[in-house]
Amino acid sequence: MAGPVSTRHPVSAAIAPLLLLVAIGLGAAAQASDPYHDSRQHMIRLIEADVRATSDYLRRTALDARVLEAMARVPRHEFVPDDLVDAAYRNRPLPIGHGQTISQPYIVAIMTDLLDLEPGQRVLEIGTGSGYQAAVLAEFGASVWSIEIIPALAEQAAERLPRLGYDQVEVRAGDGYYGWPDEAPFDAIIVTAAASHVPSPLLQQLRTGAKMIIPVGSPFSTQQLLLITRDQNEQVRTRQVLPVRFVPLTGEH
Ligand code: SAH
Repeated sequence: MAGPVSTRHPVSAAIAPLLLLVAIGLGAAAQASDPYHDSRQHMIRLIEADVRATSDYLRRTALDARVLEAMARVPRHEFVPDDLVDAAYRNRPLPIGHGQTISQPYIVAIMTDLLDLEPGQRVLEIGTGSGYQAAVLAEFGASVWSIEIIPALAEQAAERLPRLGYDQVEVRAGDGYYGWPDEAPFDAIIVTAAASHVPSPLLQQLRTGAKMIIPVGSPFSTQQLLLITRDQNEQVRTRQVLPVRFVPLTGEH
């Protein structure tokens, strides 16, 4: 757009408003050229409806607007296999290969919201999977360290996230049960696979006052989503939020 307004060809006063109109038109075209814009907005409305329907569990009727704004910007279709792109903005988990799933958008939204994050905070994620949850955290403004136990998924996410501009996410392959001691403590920890118990190394890597969200229970039935706070007196408080169903946290621990 800089071309027509170059100094070599000064623009007359009569043409300037016309150029402005062209510029506005181009802005609208940019939105229209994102074929997923409307589906993403629709996905946000579905999340809001689910939040209202589960408000007793969540103890809130609406999520932090910044969480939904972040989710309205992340291109979920870039995080699913090619043959599922058309389903990317359904409010559903989807398979991502290796027997794993990208979580349901509603679950991503509430887990992000319950952490009560502020932009600039440091978050540890266990279970990178597709990298979608990490991208939502990054879009919110967090710096993210994410661990994935399946090397092929870790590699894909480590390539995908910077390609989409999410440079503030670091991914590594490994068993997340032990956390990332070199980068601890964290302002929040999010575990996106179901654990049989709360891993004590993760509790130790929580900053005082910080929160962890983790599904705990049997891998073969529903689990409870737990919100854990390490309070100012170093006491650990646990709140049971909601029954959920996640793929299991695996590893040798
Ligand atoms: N957050 C992901 C959802 C991932 S599903 C997303 O947004 O797409 C859970 C992921 O946890 C799977 O990819 C699984 O391989 C991984 N996982 C399971 N056990 C793990 C462990 N011990 N350490 C790290 N990752 C683990």
